[in-house]
Amino acid sequence: MKKNLFGLSVEEIARVLLPLQVPSYRAKQIAAWMYQKMATSFDEMTNLPKQLRSTLQAQFCLCTARQKAALHSSDGKTSKFLLAFEDGTAVETVLMRQPYGNSICVSTQAGCNMGCAFCASTLHGMTRDLTTGEILAQVLFIERFLAQQGQKVDTMVLMGSGEPLMNYDRVLGFLRLVHEPYALGMSYRNITLSTSGIVPRIYELADEGIPVNLSISLHAPESELRTRLMPINRKYPLAEVVAVGKAYGDKTKRRVTYEYILIEDVNDSIAQAKQLAHLLHGQLASVNLIPINPVVERHLLRPSQERIDAFENCLLMNHIAVTVRREMGTDINAACGQLRNRHLSER
Ligand code: SAH
Repeated sequence: MKKNLFGLSVEEIARVLLPLQVPSYRAKQIAAWMYQKMATSFDEMTNLPKQLRSTLQAQFCLCTARQKAALHSSDGKTSKFLLAFEDGTAVETVLMRQPYGNSICVSTQAGCNMGCAFCASTLHGMTRDLTTGEILAQVLFIERFLAQQGQKVDTMVLMGSGEPLMNYDRVLGFLRLVHEPYALGMSYRNITLSTSGIVPRIYELADEGIPVNLSISLHAPESELRTRLMPINRKYPLAEVVAVGKAYGDKTKRRVTYEYILIEDVNDSIAQAKQLAHLLHGQLASVNLIPINPVVERHLLRPSQERIDAFENCLLMNHIAVTVRREMGTDINAACGQLRNRHLSER
């Protein structure tokens, strides 16, 4: 199989080109073609000598992602794509047109093996980790889509399928690459990484000099319930997760967000809101309440609007910054993993 250049940094491209004995600036030109001019073939790279283009063509490929399905919400604000890579593995990537710009949600693994009780992405387990290039290919796919309308990607969340910190090196490679001026030049503050709380990796991330926003999926104010919802809590219990969240905020000076899915009669009582406020008291943190996107397979329901409001108000009264996630695209199954699952069961 030909080696894929897509997803490599300039240094990595230079390294694979060594046997060809071309000047080192060629690596930079190739990167600019792939990541900025969104070239899909070596033929388009017109500032490379013709001979080099055909050598590249013979020895390497530019494998990105191809669309297998797309769904657009009726209000036109959310588009969801099922994107396939070279081996046929497919993941979901979502574009949300928010008031503050175009936000995209990318996947870091095909499927997931964290086993969270409420999540559709984990229903079929994990197929495999995505490579740096495959994560980047999702962004470039949306960039190409938006470019047709004269628009671009403004912010990005790593909140699609998968646990990004269980695919640490490739995700880090991706974050560094999208930030590179020769690639997308995206500011780290426009990127949010969401994790189920892989404690040692969060400490490591805090030391990387990559000040992305951190979102931690909490979902319960005490450990026993959290274990029921998120089996990873057995390994990295609530208290340690909150401690590392604090450490991340202190180190990066970025406000950590705790995601809290609201599930009827499971974690939505006022007593639990008070417990949550107590747990986060004194942290530079905010809570993002997410009324659950019901997953029929799991029999977990969304609380009434009154209960959602009451939970939010209780946090506010206890001086916790809180937002309630605006629901987007529920008419196109935007809940994590639902499009992919349908595709898997149809196969
Ligand atoms: N593994 C990472 C990132 C992927 S999940 C993490 O756990 O954070 C991204 C977010 O979507 C998480 O907060 C997750 O808890 C949430 N999520 C998963 N299933 C959901 C559902 N059915 N309804 C609402 N949010 C859900």
